[in-house]
Amino acid sequence: MEIKLTKAQIQKAVQEAYEECKNIKGGVNAHYIPYLANVNPDLFGISLTLLDGTTISVGDTEYKFGIESVSKVLTAILILKQWGAEEVLKQIGADATGLPFNSIFAILLENDHPSTPLVNAGAITACSMVKPHGDSWGKWENIINNFEALCGSRAEVIDELYRSESDTNFENRSIAWLLKNYNRIYDDVPMSLDLYTRQCSVGITAAQLGICAATIANGGTNPVTRQEVFARELAPKITTLISSVGFYQNTGDWMYTSGIPAKSGVGGGVLGVMPGLFGVAAFAPPLDDAGNSVKAQAAVKTIMKKLGLGVFNGDTVTITD
Ligand code: GLU
Repeated sequence: MEIKLTKAQIQKAVQEAYEECKNIKGGVNAHYIPYLANVNPDLFGISLTLLDGTTISVGDTEYKFGIESVSKVLTAILILKQWGAEEVLKQIGADATGLPFNSIFAILLENDHPSTPLVNAGAITACSMVKPHGDSWGKWENIINNFEALCGSRAEVIDELYRSESDTNFENRSIAWLLKNYNRIYDDVPMSLDLYTRQCSVGITAAQLGICAATIANGGTNPVTRQEVFARELAPKITTLISSVGFYQNTGDWMYTSGIPAKSGVGGGVLGVMPGLFGVAAFAPPLDDAGNSVKAQAAVKTIMKKLGLGVFNGDTVTITD
């Protein structure tokens, strides 16, 4: 089928999704990281960026929240750039774990590789692979510069969140050392874990994440700055990773009901990629049991439904002024 959409229709869908979802109750802020537990639970924003750079934003889209696990997508792109798709598959993998984000069980089950860069284990391994080897400062510069290129503007660590996570990340410490035991940390262990914790503590806005999603949807070229951030051939690789495990143990249900590959974070953010069409981000702190934002999920699903879109629908879609 051929679907023709105008920018005004997309604007209307985003606005209506905001109105319809803003009063949804349910979910609780992530409680295991003290900083996140105290973020205002009523914050809510949606931002959608088209491939010509047009951005449609409604609500709290300039509020800086913890990027958390959405950061895994950005650093996966960095190691795909630095190592290539084959090597990332070999060293980490591209399989869904079907288990929670911080599952130790998943590591024990597949101890020959950490499955995917989009769960904690694989994301810590990914941080250990970031070049230059052994240089914590140089690695961090590459991670944060890559965030900037993808999002089109600078993002900074929220110091209080970083301290809060570092003081309480006992489970991630176990994961890092267990991976080391299986020879799956390729640099210093505490350094790799610290880089992971730091990248999770970056403050990001929904507007920035929407642009990042649109950069992926646009095959690696940032639609706002026009910078080529990564090679076109890596775009389907990163979108595959997102669609296979972006919502952890709920990913199948998410894909089935929403029709859009998306990645969530316990800070309340969701980043969704519609290849060739747009990137969308939504943010609201209260989470469901799997650690995914209740309102952000509802908002993205509502937009997809209103526009009649789905990544597997097989439709030809054109967006005009
Ligand atoms: N920093 C969090 C952790 O590792 C991120 C988890 C998430 O967003 O799913 O526990």
